[in-house]
Amino acid sequence: MNDFEILNLSNQLYRAVEELGFDKPTPIQEKACPVVLSGKDVVGIAQTGTGKTFAYLLPILRDLKYSKQVNPRVLIMVPTRELVIQVVEQAKSLSKYLNVRALGVYGGVNINTQMFAVAEGMDILVATPGRLYDLLVNRAIILKSVKKLVIDEVDVMLDLGFRFQLTNIFDFLPERRQNIMFSATMTEEVDALIDDFFIAPVKVSVAISGTPLDNIAQQCYSVRNFFTKVNLLSHLLNDKELYQKVLVFVSHKKNADKLFEALEEQFGEETGIIHSNKSQNNRIRTVNKFDKGVTRILIATDVIARGIDLEMVTHVINFDTPGFPENYMHRIGRTGRAEQEGKSILFYTPAEEEAMQAIEDLMDYKIPQIEFPAEVEVSRELIAEERPKEITKNPNRNTKSQLSGGGAFHEKKDKNKKTNQGGSYLRKRKTYKKPQTKGDKNFNRRNKKK
Ligand code: AMP
Repeated sequence: MNDFEILNLSNQLYRAVEELGFDKPTPIQEKACPVVLSGKDVVGIAQTGTGKTFAYLLPILRDLKYSKQVNPRVLIMVPTRELVIQVVEQAKSLSKYLNVRALGVYGGVNINTQMFAVAEGMDILVATPGRLYDLLVNRAIILKSVKKLVIDEVDVMLDLGFRFQLTNIFDFLPERRQNIMFSATMTEEVDALIDDFFIAPVKVSVAISGTPLDNIAQQCYSVRNFFTKVNLLSHLLNDKELYQKVLVFVSHKKNADKLFEALEEQFGEETGIIHSNKSQNNRIRTVNKFDKGVTRILIATDVIARGIDLEMVTHVINFDTPGFPENYMHRIGRTGRAEQEGKSILFYTPAEEEAMQAIEDLMDYKIPQIEFPAEVEVSRELIAEERPKEITKNPNRNTKSQLSGGGAFHEKKDKNKKTNQGGSYLRKRKTYKKPQTKGDKNFNRRNKKK
């Protein structure tokens, strides 16, 4: 018996996976396949490399009957052109013994050529949201037959600023459909998207493989607020012998920028920052400098840090406590690689205690507490989200987002209910527009001066 048979697929699919040389399903495939087959909405938390693509392709292909119709019945949205190509390839390799047509569309190539390809018809459409939206606006494609929607690497997609396109694409889809989403990290934006568009989704996740917890010494500090965290971090980083290569995680770009400003004052050129509002070139340059040891400290947001490969990080500092425990596992996995012992330090405020508890529950491990150093100044200054709620500007704000900084997308829940349409396009555009890459400009200016 083929080990894939526990997934309750079909002979054609068993043959295809066997020919690909896979002898048993990966844990995410075992967990996600039955849920996808059940027809319920699914949220899968899994990184690239776990076999997540087959985890949704296999059950989808099992239920996709032969058809000659032109309009797609399965829509898979992914953030990048490379991923479109990869998913189409995987879909084709699995459907070797099925009669299924998969087509990929993405930006950066001639749209007319893709319009012709689309007109030929397909069963599975794999697309980046930007190009798909353009095709929809041009009436080149009709999504009314879509029964299953997959959004893969949704964290990256939202971080790249595709929320606007995604929300608009939902308007072209039939209401009755199965939603399947995969994300490596949970963020408030992802959570808000699920809240808005998914119906009672089943969450499936796998333990983060290859995270050698035994190899990582973990510690935590109870810290009053943001600026006290800044003081504590500066205090620790003063020990240059010990803190040689430090990756500092911050959940939000805004707070990451704020921390960068503060650290830059003290550590100047020793500090770098990356998040999705920085240009790709700037990110590559910053990561290279950190990797080579030119800079000692790198501030990063969760989603962006995932795509980079770093050697020998001595310390991971969790400047904030991730609201989603899986993110903590991803973060600390960046240190303690290979035979090296890594160190992880977590800062938590009273508001973040619950999130820390969730992390400890997930690991089944109590993170050793270090006493707050007496010589570090406790700041009284509060940042906007630490001030009492009455004075926040928007009374409709979803309180769930207050935990670690307030995600902008929570405010948009009401807006998505499609009332009050007058002039909404401009308003939306304004809301979703990416903040300017101020950090990049400063970087350029500084470098010019030299
Ligand atoms: P993914 O996480 O979807 O990016 O997949 C990572 C890699 O794992 C791909 O190259 C797949 O071809 C491969 N893969 C998928 N499922 C299995 C499996 N059951 N056994 C071994 N490799 C697999």
